[in-house]
Amino acid sequence: MISQENKNIQIGDLLTFKKPHPCGGNTWKVLRIGIDFKLECTTCYRQIMITRLDVYKRIKN
Ligand SMILES: [Zn+2]
Repeated sequence: MISQENKNIQIGDLLTFKKPHPCGGNTWKVLRIGIDFKLECTTCYRQIMITRLDVYKRIKN
């Protein structure tokens, strides 16, 4: 059984979050993957660090 938890995320992928960023965008580009993920907002180009668990909680199914 494949669950969202096991969705394979790779560098360069675009992720859509359920809740939009304050800038209005809700699409993030994956810059780095590790214990934390580094994401860049594709609208305002702000970069954030976010835990792997939070990434999976925030993305749209
Ligand atoms: Zn933004």
